[in-house]
Amino acid sequence: MVTSKFRDAATARQLADKIRKLMPKKGIVKICHVCGTHEWTITHYGLRELLPSNIEVIAGPGCPVCIVPASEVDEAVALALEGVVITCFGDVLRVPGSRMSLLDARAEGAEVKVVYSVKDAVDMAKKEKRKKFVFFAVGFETTAPSTAIEILNGVPENLSFLVSHRLIPPAMKVLAEMKDMNLNGFIAPGHVSTVIGLEPYKVFPQDYGIPTVIAGFEPLDVLFGVYLILKQISENKPRLENEYSRVVKPEGNVKAKKVMEKAFKVADGSWRGIGTIPSSKFTLLPNYTDFDAHVKYNVKIEHGADLQHGCKCDLVIIGKIKPTQCPLFMKKCTPQKPVGACMVSNEGTCRIWARATSH
Ligand code: SF4
Repeated sequence: MVTSKFRDAATARQLADKIRKLMPKKGIVKICHVCGTHEWTITHYGLRELLPSNIEVIAGPGCPVCIVPASEVDEAVALALEGVVITCFGDVLRVPGSRMSLLDARAEGAEVKVVYSVKDAVDMAKKEKRKKFVFFAVGFETTAPSTAIEILNGVPENLSFLVSHRLIPPAMKVLAEMKDMNLNGFIAPGHVSTVIGLEPYKVFPQDYGIPTVIAGFEPLDVLFGVYLILKQISENKPRLENEYSRVVKPEGNVKAKKVMEKAFKVADGSWRGIGTIPSSKFTLLPNYTDFDAHVKYNVKIEHGADLQHGCKCDLVIIGKIKPTQCPLFMKKCTPQKPVGACMVSNEGTCRIWARATSH
């Protein structure tokens, strides 16, 4: 089996020994990843326990659903309650808005439909021409191309898009610039990197002196990523390395990047719990204004409430605290009844930790 060689326990222990030997004599090494799947691998396989206690591997804003600001959920909810059919991926359904989620709106009689692809939303709109449809497009650079392709291919007039796609490298910049974060390394996300390639990460070693390694999702990928970061630290030579070269090409996916360029422009975007990040969001280019739900329906949301009372998602999203440090974790906030966005999706840090503690 292809994956088994990347899960070999003996090799994992050998790698952990090599990492231990490279550890600096003093202080903590803080490594941040920005991908829900990396967090799953690290938690599921107990990689933190395998590493020396003075390595901290923290989860940054790598869950696309968690970082959608409440104001954008509110916009989708407002449209749903006005009679527009909202289509979205399943994990978007329960993301909290200021007052309610799309699931709550559905309970109040709104039409909210889960789709498995953007094409499903296109087909639904074609079938029911008298209804107005909106696809709530959430996701990072990995899912943005599929939204872009449908728009470029032409969609029915009764379908428009609430584009909430975000870009990962600008969020990494925010973390790199946070004075009290003191990051010593980045594990860059494998999936996003298959699309964007290596170039957008070069800034981290070059301008911020932070060793950066693109890593795959198997346990040995992550451990080898940590090893490469430690090696860079020990040599005092921060650079960008691609541990996931079996999948990630230096140039990324050229076709997907072209498709995104044709449909989107980059704008400043609000991230839940973080605030506005410059050049971090895709919006539709003027040629596609007719399919832009923001423009078409002009719903005004003055101010979204990202955090419910007691919720610490703002700190979990940037890796400042662990989910277990939130007073609501597994008390008021559970996978069955999530309070915060980080407990909703399988890529959310709180949800991943909740699953691990329940086994
Ligand atoms: S446990 Fe719930 S409320 Fe607390 S940070 Fe996580 S998602 Fe937010």
